[in-house]
Amino acid sequence: MNEFDLIQSYFNWEITDPSIELGVGDDAALFNLNPGHQLVTSTDTLVEGIHFFKDTSPSDIAYKSLAVNLSDIAAMGAIAKCYTLSLTLPKLDKKWLEQFSSSLKESSKLFHVNLIGGDTTKGPLNITITMMGSIEIDSSIKRSGAREGDDIYVTGDLGSAALCLKKIKEGDKPSQIELNSLNKPIPRLELGSALRNLASSCIDVSDGLEQDLSHILRASNVGAIIDTNKLPLGASVNNYVKDTNDWSMPLCGGDDYELCFTAGQSMRDKISALAESLETRVTRIGTINSQKELEVIGFSGVRSSYQHF
Ligand code: ADP
Ligand code: MG
Repeated sequence: MNEFDLIQSYFNWEITDPSIELGVGDDAALFNLNPGHQLVTSTDTLVEGIHFFKDTSPSDIAYKSLAVNLSDIAAMGAIAKCYTLSLTLPKLDKKWLEQFSSSLKESSKLFHVNLIGGDTTKGPLNITITMMGSIEIDSSIKRSGAREGDDIYVTGDLGSAALCLKKIKEGDKPSQIELNSLNKPIPRLELGSALRNLASSCIDVSDGLEQDLSHILRASNVGAIIDTNKLPLGASVNNYVKDTNDWSMPLCGGDDYELCFTAGQSMRDKISALAESLETRVTRIGTINSQKELEVIGFSGVRSSYQHF
């Protein structure tokens, strides 16, 4: 099997979106955008040994590669549409490809996105997805819109993925629920898109709440105060914090893929109603102020979020 057979066998699926004119197989893909809409695009790479373990299943790797990219589109308030896949593989392993490709196909169906092209090369395992979506002009939620007095919210709960990672690294066996928080993050697509008219700024929490919220603060030229006692925690993180008084998992742990957003206080009722209708936990954790820093009440330990370099 050569590279072209590989693409045909594993990555040339039926396109389910009629606005995509050309997908895999030509020099480039073609698709139409609705009038009055902007293209929203974001890319994320997953590298073996950095973003996933050598023994992570191909199906989990495929799901997560897609989910982390969708999370960025959700954070802009946009609708995801299609994506390209750049795959670098150490060898042509049919079993691996079958599992990866069928999980990617299934996940694409789940999130209503189509694979429209990519690139395939040989080298250390590396998966890059570039996600494309669309949004009405002037309605995206940027990092720069937070204003003094705005509430700060976060979806889901924080720290579970980081705690799972910590357990694996320390040789403990995480539960299936804990493993899911690491391998199966849920991109908050519906919520993100519904926040377009409610939120003043938004970011997805991939490198730790403290660092990602700080990106909002810097872009918006504001400060914030958040209270650790208000942070939403899953059961195992809650126990861990109780035992250790260490808030670094929910504050600085990465891989949550929840949304952190700000909104004016007048939006409180609408945000509660939205959370209820989407059956998604949304928690108010603090307030934007005019200081130029992030103040964290309830934890004075070392705070250091993930950085690649
Ligand atoms: P070129 O050399 O002209 O860039 P390629 O051989 O890289 O063409 O790709 C041929 C076609 O297959 C293109 O449409 C490309 O987008 C698609 N393709 C290549 N690799 C992948 C992949 N991993 N997943 C999906 N489509 C792919
Ligand atoms: Mg070409």
